[in-house]
This record gives sequence, structure tokens and C-alpha cells, in this order.
Amino acid sequence: MNILVLNAGSSSLKYQLINMETEQVVAKGLCERVGASESVHIYEAGSDEREFVLELHDHYAAVKAVLETLTNPDDGVIKNLADITAIGHRVVHGGDFFAESVIITKEVIDRIKECVPLAPLHNPPALSGIRSCLELMPNTQQVAVFDTAFHQTMPPKAYRYPLPTEYYEKHRIRRYGFHGTSHRYVSERAAVMLNKPAEDVKVITCHLGNGCSLTAVKGGHSVDTSMGYTPLDGLMMGTRSGSIDPAILLYLIDYLDMNPREVNHIINKESGLLGVSGLSNDLRDVGNAADAGDERARLALELYAYSARRFLGSYFFALQGADAIVFTAGVGENAQKMREMILEGLEDLGICLDLERNSKRGGERFISTDDSPVKVMVIPTNEELMIAKDVKALIS
Ligand code: AMP
Repeated sequence: MNILVLNAGSSSLKYQLINMETEQVVAKGLCERVGASESVHIYEAGSDEREFVLELHDHYAAVKAVLETLTNPDDGVIKNLADITAIGHRVVHGGDFFAESVIITKEVIDRIKECVPLAPLHNPPALSGIRSCLELMPNTQQVAVFDTAFHQTMPPKAYRYPLPTEYYEKHRIRRYGFHGTSHRYVSERAAVMLNKPAEDVKVITCHLGNGCSLTAVKGGHSVDTSMGYTPLDGLMMGTRSGSIDPAILLYLIDYLDMNPREVNHIINKESGLLGVSGLSNDLRDVGNAADAGDERARLALELYAYSARRFLGSYFFALQGADAIVFTAGVGENAQKMREMILEGLEDLGICLDLERNSKRGGERFISTDDSPVKVMVIPTNEELMIAKDVKALIS
């Protein structure tokens, strides 16, 4: 059984074709600059790596190019489209309509459309990807997997904002949370690694990449998460500020004469590691600059670590302790120094990082000491596999 996983962004289309018998990736790729006159399709199948420059004027053209490459009679990885059993689409926002993945129907498409105001940059390309597949493969089942769905189990005390109730009831302003597929995947893997049923496990999952979020997971369910109404909330990120005093935004508008668009740009694109360091949104660049003595870079790292530590502390209390802390995504999986900064000096709380283990690279692993009451783990995230598993479960 081959499942095609699609992740459509505003000008991109990422995909993986996964064989669900082996859970191995058969082929994967990325179409970039979709909509521009010169687009690029990067394709990889085993040792076969290729780059095609072509014109992909919309997502339909991108999906068509991907399907043609996969089924190319000379060197395609599958014979024809019938070899794709089903398709899974990553959809960023399912609002409070979807608490789990669903088979796509007309009603589901209407609901995803209703969520466009909540994710104006993300849901429209996902809809284009879905419509393209419906046209190109009308007889193949399609499934939507939502970034927000995992967090639908949060209790009202975690998802409501202390604003007048009408803003929640009339305008659906509440915490939704994001990165849900990643948090779900790593929390499930953590339970397996702890050798305990998911129902008995309390874990804090730290998705630290360009985007960052922490989630408190109890018994396999998200009970709190740091991203909110939008993916801007919570931790400091690569270019996003995370939570800041909301009055700062009013000051920028009222006293510095900025318009909301400019303010939006600053807090989404010019802040975080980039804004504080003045150098880069990439943790490696900022780390190198800090090592070379750059003070702003050093402060940016401190802020990044402290922001994660604050949320970690608050979820440790919310869960009344935890069995494990999991690090995932680009920074979480690779940046040993950052993990050390976040967990420094927490031994009295039962969180004992093993510096030797933390310094080693590898796949899924424990990086706490053997007698650490709270286990610390690194688990590489795999959202595509999680999506494919959901598709497989739904269609069978
Ligand atoms: P992601 O959004 O998950 O792709 O993560 C991107 C972030 O991971 C960037 O800030 C990278 O600097 C960071 N990253 C990736 N590899 C490493 C590494 N080996 N060491 C430190 N940071 C890394």
C-alpha cells in the first residue's frame, strides 16, 4: 500500500510517497516557486536525485508534475496512478470542527474553507492541493490531517483567553495550537520508548525549529500548548516574537504610526532569533556568532533558551510533574548546546541531563542519566509518516 502525503504551502508543494508495508519513503520531493514563471521540482527516490526547472503556474500543475514523475514509464517508482492507494493532505487549520483526521468529502472541504480566515496563508493552498487531486485522481480516497486537531482535547481553562466571552462565541477567538501532528507523533513514540501505555504517560514535547511550540500531553491527549489563536503565540522562534505584551503592538500603532500590516511583519518576520541577534533566524549562524564573541547573538540564544524553559516549567506544574521531556525538530534534534541551556540546573526537580549522551548524535534516544526521575529524550519528528498512518487507518 502506497500513500502519497502532500503538504501544500503558498508557493510550494512538498510530498512523500510512503510504502505502508515497510513504512519506508519510496520517493519524496519539493516543488518550489509554484506560481512563478520558473519553478523548481526537486525529486529524490533512493539514490536517484534530480532537479527539474519548469513552469508550475499553480498547485494543479505542481501536483500533475509530481504524479507524472512518479509514474514516468522510464524511471518512475510506480507503474501508474492506481499504485497510489490514497492521499493524505496536511491542513494547517481545522478550527474546532476537527478533533481528528477525516476522509475528505464536500462537507469537509466546506469546513476547511470556513477556517480560511483563521489561517489565510495556509488553508487556501491546502484547498488547492485537495482540489487538484480530486481532479487528477477522482477515484482515489483523500484524507485531511489537521495541525490543530491534536489540541482539540485541551480543556477550556487552557484554550480560552480572558477576553469578553462574545469574542469566543461570535468570533471563535481561542487557543487552537499547531504542530499537532508532530506533538502527537513524538508523544506516541515517547510512550513506546518508556515501555508504558500512552494512557499512563505524562510528557512535555518540545518542537523547536524555525517555528517553536511546547505541548503538555497527558494520557496521549494534549492538555495545553504554547501556540495559540495563531502560530505566533508562545515561544520565541526563528523570526517570530512569540508572546509579548499586547500593549506593545498598540504602542507601535499609536505612537510610532505603524499600520497593522507593518506591525504584523515585524512580529512575524523580523523578530525572534533574527530580530535580537540582528544576524540570522538560523540557530547555527547565531551560535557561531555567539562563539565568536557577538553579544547580541549570545543574548538571542539566552532569550530562546529561557523562553522554552519558562513554558517547560509551566507545563511541569500543569501536569503535576512529567515522566519525560522530548526534544524534536531542527533545533530540538540537533542543537545539543541549546538543550543543555534549557535544562541546566534542574536536577533538584528530577530532570538530570547526561551531558555525554546529550553530546552524541543519533535517532531516537534517551539523553538523561539512568536514574533521572524525569527522562529526557530526543525523538526525530516524522509528520509525513503520522499523516500516512492516519490515512491507512481511515481507509481500511
Ligand atoms: P526546522 O524548522 O525544524 O527545519 O528547524 C530549523 C532550525 O534548526 C534552524 O534554526 C537550524 O539552525 C536548526 N538546526 C538544524 N540543524 C542544526 C544543527 N546541526 N545544530 C543546530 N541547529 C540546527
